Amino acid sequence: MPRPIVATIHVAAMQHNLARARACAPGAKAWAVVKANAYGHGLQRALRGFADADGLALIEFDNAVRLREMGWSKPILLLEGWFDAADLHAMAEHGLAGTAHCAEQIALLERTPLARPVDVHLKMNTGMNRLGFKPADYAAAHARLRAIPHVGYITLMTHFANADEAAHECLPIREQIRRFDAGAAGLDAPRSLANSAGVLRMQELGGELVSDWIRPGIMLYGGTPGGGSAADYGLRPAMTLESELIGIQEIAAGDFVGYGSRFEADRAMRIGTVACGYADGYPRHAPTGTPVMVDGCRTRTVGRVSMDMMAVDLTGIDSARVGSRVVLWGEDLAVDDVAASADTIGYELMCAVAQRVQVRED
Ligand code: PLP
Repeated sequence: MPRPIVATIHVAAMQHNLARARACAPGAKAWAVVKANAYGHGLQRALRGFADADGLALIEFDNAVRLREMGWSKPILLLEGWFDAADLHAMAEHGLAGTAHCAEQIALLERTPLARPVDVHLKMNTGMNRLGFKPADYAAAHARLRAIPHVGYITLMTHFANADEAAHECLPIREQIRRFDAGAAGLDAPRSLANSAGVLRMQELGGELVSDWIRPGIMLYGGTPGGGSAADYGLRPAMTLESELIGIQEIAAGDFVGYGSRFEADRAMRIGTVACGYADGYPRHAPTGTPVMVDGCRTRTVGRVSMDMMAVDLTGIDSARVGSRVVLWGEDLAVDDVAASADTIGYELMCAVAQRVQVRED
C-alpha cells in the first residue's frame, strides 16, 4: 500500500484560472506556461487544463516534442530558445517557436538553413539582466532576424523582474514597459510582455501595458507572483498536497519534538505525526508555526521537518485521530501562505513535489 501522501490536481481549477487570466487581458492571446512539468502539475493535465490556451510555453525541448506527440497542435514556444543546430532542425520539424535572446543564437540561425521557417520571439532585456538584447541593440537584432529567409513570424518580447516579489519593486513594471517601448519603437510586430505579475496588474496599468500575447504561469496554478491573495484575485488552487496523521503523541511540558529537539512544549500537548517530509518536497526549512490543516482545522507545524515525516500541533482539534486528513497546501490553505512561512515562493513548493508522491486528479 503506498504511503498516504497525494498531490491532487484540480484540472477544472486550471481551466478556471486560464479564463481569469484571459479576462484580465481582453483581446490578448494566451500562452499557458507549462515549464517544469507544468509547475509540478503534469503535462497530461496541462493539456486538458489549458486546452483553451492559444499556445503552450516551456523551457524543455524534450517536453515540447512530447506535447506534439500527445496531440497538441497549436503553437509551442521555447522560452530559452535553441542551443545548437539540431535544436533548430527539431523546431522546424515539430513547428516549435523559439526565443532569440543573444547574438550567438541569431548567428546560428543565419548559418543553419531550415526546411521550414521557424517563428521567433525576440527578447529584450529591460532590466532583469538575465536574458535579452539591450533596448539600444534591439532594432538591429530585429533587422538581422528579418533578413533570415527561414524565420517566420517575429514577436517582440520582454520579461518582468518583479514577478515573484511584489513588495520589493526596485524595478517597477512601469519602468520596464517604458524601456521596452523605447527599444521597440518603430518595430511593427506583436508584443508579448505579461507574465502573471503583468496580467494581474493589467487593469491598473491600463494602456501603458499593451501585450498582444500574455504568458501567465503561476496564476494558472492558483498561486500569486508575490503579494495579494490568490483567492482575492479569483484564482483557485490547482494542486492540493494532502496526507494523513500516522501517529499521535501525548507530550508533557518540557518534552521536545523531532530532530535537533527544536521544539519544546510549554504545556501538555497532543502532537500529530504526518506522512510528509522533505523527501516528498515539503521544505525542510519551514519553521515551527507553518500553517497546516488537520481534519479541516488550521493549525501549525512543530519542530524540524524530517525526511518522511513532520509534526503538527493538535491543540483544540479533538477530532484528530490516526488517519485524519492533513492538507499541506491547496484547498483551504493557500500555497502562498505556506511558502511565506517557509521563506520561499509557491512556485518552488509546487515544482518540488517529489516523484514518490502519488498524483491523482479530480
Ligand atoms: N515568461 C517567461 C519568459 C518566463 O520565464 C516565465 C516564468 O518564469 C513566465 C513567462 C511565467 O511567469 P509567472 O509564472 O510568474 O507567470
